[in-house]
Amino acid sequence: MNRRKRPSQNAVTHSGKVETQTRTKKGTERNHEKQKQGKRDRQSPEVPSHRGGAVALHPDASAGQAQQVSAPAQVAAPSRGRYLNSGTGPSLHPVDIGHRDYIALVDPDTAFWSLVLKKKLADVIGDARFLAAYRSKSRAFAEEMQTLRFGLKPNAVYINPTTGCNLNCKYCYIPSEMRRNGEHISLENMISALDKLQSYYRATLPENSRPQVVFHGAEPLLNKEVVFKAIERYGDQFRFGIQTNSTLLDEDAIKFLTARNVSIGLSLDGHTPRIADRTRVDWNGRGAFDAVVQAMDRLRGYPGLSVICTVTDKNLPYLSEMAGFLHRHEVSTCLLNVVRCTLPAARTIKPGDAKAARAFTRALDVTYENYLRTGRKLVVANFANILIGILAPTARRLMCDISPCGGGRCFFAMAPNGDLFPCSEFIGLPDFAGGNIFRDAIEDVLQSKAFLAVTGRKVEDIEPCRRCAIRHFCGSPCPAEAHEANGAMNRTGSFCEFYEEQARYAFRVIADGRQDAYLWDGWDKGTAETFRWSAAQ
Ligand code: SF4
Ligand code: SF4
Repeated sequence: MNRRKRPSQNAVTHSGKVETQTRTKKGTERNHEKQKQGKRDRQSPEVPSHRGGAVALHPDASAGQAQQVSAPAQVAAPSRGRYLNSGTGPSLHPVDIGHRDYIALVDPDTAFWSLVLKKKLADVIGDARFLAAYRSKSRAFAEEMQTLRFGLKPNAVYINPTTGCNLNCKYCYIPSEMRRNGEHISLENMISALDKLQSYYRATLPENSRPQVVFHGAEPLLNKEVVFKAIERYGDQFRFGIQTNSTLLDEDAIKFLTARNVSIGLSLDGHTPRIADRTRVDWNGRGAFDAVVQAMDRLRGYPGLSVICTVTDKNLPYLSEMAGFLHRHEVSTCLLNVVRCTLPAARTIKPGDAKAARAFTRALDVTYENYLRTGRKLVVANFANILIGILAPTARRLMCDISPCGGGRCFFAMAPNGDLFPCSEFIGLPDFAGGNIFRDAIEDVLQSKAFLAVTGRKVEDIEPCRRCAIRHFCGSPCPAEAHEANGAMNRTGSFCEFYEEQARYAFRVIADGRQDAYLWDGWDKGTAETFRWSAAQ
């Protein structure tokens, strides 16, 4: 089952005919139909009750995949489920999305939602047709969430080919002593690791799958020879990507990578050297701005390019300018990620939660205004992922905003010595090494105590997330941050309002029929793709 049709059929409502949305050549038109008061249906059939369930992607990755749905748990003495918000009846929470006309009704367990006119809210919740619409979809949505949350298998790996870096960025997730004394992986070990990964994926993924390998921090191009030989040798087996600080990304490297369709992520934190170089500097304090902009311009028009901007209190006031800057440089995909506060140094530059939410949503406004003006999109991928998570959960590309997150489930990370971690965010936290690729079976590593601590972190076990109606659009990231900054896995991370406001903004975008402006062209095609993988497991 996929929800590919959800946007067009139900983008504004799942509530029958309270309001419908139709598409014309001129764009999306709203067709307000008069709400008719339905008869209260006290004899309606039981709604299958289902709670629990669980899956994932990474802040700078793509893809998703999966397995099986377990049967809904049986309730010993269930009510007949006839009434809204009592017994085993539909659980639909009104959520203020900050829209003039609309309010959202959300089933937090299944991520079923409907936007209804505020003035019709009382009519809608007493409308038998609305409850019938919910009933007709809730089981399928519950099963879909179950698969997404608990039924996926890894199809990507983040490989750190070195712990060394020529920069000393303030918020890096790798401790500075590790970066200073960089340890490279050898070519022999890289080949051995990729051979082992290849065998694992062959045994677990459908035939002809090409799992993703992303060369990640510290700075992978410090070990360029090994990385490029790996790409050359395994280009048919894996889809490769690289996340780089750009300082070593010269013309030849760009030619090599683009000729092989390698995805390239650059890191840039501001639209001027003064802003960008507040956080991204070398060991002598020299900034990386010029090198990144040069690489960005050399890569102009390359479809595999994305730019990651880490949002801190150093660049927060300039986020809108950053969105404009990236748009002018014809970047089509970026991430505006709030800084992960896993390590203490990152916490010293954490922006305020509410301020971050305001600056971020203003930057989203700017991307929309620029799109209207030029017809060119700048997709803010971390927001797009939340929007897609509402419209068509199976089309998600990143896996921080679903619970459990993708770490250790949809992907894992490998350090240069072969140690395996649930996510790059845990590299630098030795307790979270679940095993070693040269010594242990990957299947065993996935079941290790360290991995299970991450894959077992469920939003239902976290306060206040367990009561939050948008918990399956937010996912309560991030386990590494929660554990390190707040002392335990079953605590929240460092931001709540930031995620809350993104979900509210996303619902407003949907209410106004503007979603396509914030999403990649053809975004809904991924829905079927993702679920073919799921169904094949
Ligand atoms: S972090 Fe905040 S918005 Fe996210 S699920 Fe928890 S309470 Fe809800
Ligand atoms: S561990 Fe954190 S950064 Fe990694 S996928 Fe999970 S939420 Fe995202």
